[in-house]
Amino acid sequence: MASTRPNEIFNTQNNGSKIHREPASDSSCHIVIIGAGVAGLACARYLTHSLEKKSYKITILEARDRVGGRTLSIPELNLDLGASWIFSPHTAALSLVRELNIGTIDQYEDGISLMKSGNSDVRRMRLGEIHNGAIRLKGGAGSLCATLLNELTVKNQTTVAVQLNSPVISITYETNQKLNIELRDKKSIVADYVVLALPPKLFISTIEITPQLPKSLTEELSDCDTWMASTCKAILQYERAWWKDQKLSGFAVSRQSKAQEWHDASSDTCNALFVFCLSGTTKQQVIDATVKIFGNEAINPTAIHMVDWSNERFTSGSTDHSFGGHAHASNICRQSQWNGRLWFGNSEVSDAHGGFIEGAVRRGAQVANQLAELIVGK
Ligand SMILES: Cc1cc2nc3c(=O)[nH]c(=O)nc-3n(C[C@H](O)[C@H](O)[C@H](O)COP(=O)(O)OP(=O)(O)OC[C@H]3O[C@@H](n4cnc5c(N)ncnc54)[C@H](O)[C@@H]3O)c2cc1C
Repeated sequence: MASTRPNEIFNTQNNGSKIHREPASDSSCHIVIIGAGVAGLACARYLTHSLEKKSYKITILEARDRVGGRTLSIPELNLDLGASWIFSPHTAALSLVRELNIGTIDQYEDGISLMKSGNSDVRRMRLGEIHNGAIRLKGGAGSLCATLLNELTVKNQTTVAVQLNSPVISITYETNQKLNIELRDKKSIVADYVVLALPPKLFISTIEITPQLPKSLTEELSDCDTWMASTCKAILQYERAWWKDQKLSGFAVSRQSKAQEWHDASSDTCNALFVFCLSGTTKQQVIDATVKIFGNEAINPTAIHMVDWSNERFTSGSTDHSFGGHAHASNICRQSQWNGRLWFGNSEVSDAHGGFIEGAVRRGAQVANQLAELIVGK
């Protein structure tokens, strides 16, 4: 199947982004992408397509010991501890999934849903469509990043390098127009262009920038909440999907406990419920709340997996306490800085669907498209 180029998904207008046409003077240019989540990896993929005929090198610097960022899966069980759904209006993400040949799983939602508010009894309700046609991915949402990584490093061995365990601590724009990137281990890397594919709030609080960015931009980036950064997600695995036996959808909401929202997470490899919780929730609190709303069948999960994203320093930083709100970054956050050398390229700064996987794919493609135009000098 022919792969989609970024300018086939998005028109080549700049969406408010100001591009100063100052391509790197060297015949070979070095692009550094900071962050190997969906946005950073998608950006690298689209750049490799657009720069096919140019001499270039892409280095992806990732702070963690894994790629994926806010996608984190247990692939053999098709389970997600981070993002899980791609919704039907999320067309850029869906076409990327198709191009990469990743299998999908329809979100199960047949049957009765349960609601508990205050001290009231559990109410049973037959809801219409709950998940807006959402799908999950075979191998979990992490398979999107794993497949992108595989494609980038196998097909583009000579042009793309991914460096794990490499947190960036500072970026300096030198007078010779090069960017000097310093890593936590004090090593430094010189680049012609840098794409910041990490949450803006995290970038502002953890990476030192010289010279300083305009105050209005810094303020806006600091206010840009990182979606789900303070959520805790738990998965309860069971021998049987007993809720399906009881004609329940697996969807439930409680505002009475720290565990607040349940969804079916089963597939042909396991039976499971996943639960969105407030940060700081314990495994026992998840089980207790699940028993309270679903009954005693829930008491003995065969396994429980949990990630509290508020403790993830490469997602939430110390200042991010946002749960549900989606970022609405204005055009100023989509403008490149330092004569087109510095770009903001993560989901939260997308012009649409910010905070979702869709925003990450869209923004990765937009930055790749605009940067490639600048480099190729069209
Ligand atoms: C619990 C949870 C559930 C979610 N559910 C959904 C869902 O169902 N559907 C959906 O569409 N979205 C969902 N999301 C949101 C989705 O995960 C994000 O929109 C998407 O993954 C963002 O990708 P990104 O690449 O922009 O950012 P990130 O995934 O945050 O990637 C940023 C990367 O930068 C790295 N990094 C950070 N600091 C540095 C540094 N100093 N140096 C180098 N690297 C650094 C990080 O380690 C990370 O890999 C969910 C998120 C969570 C946490």
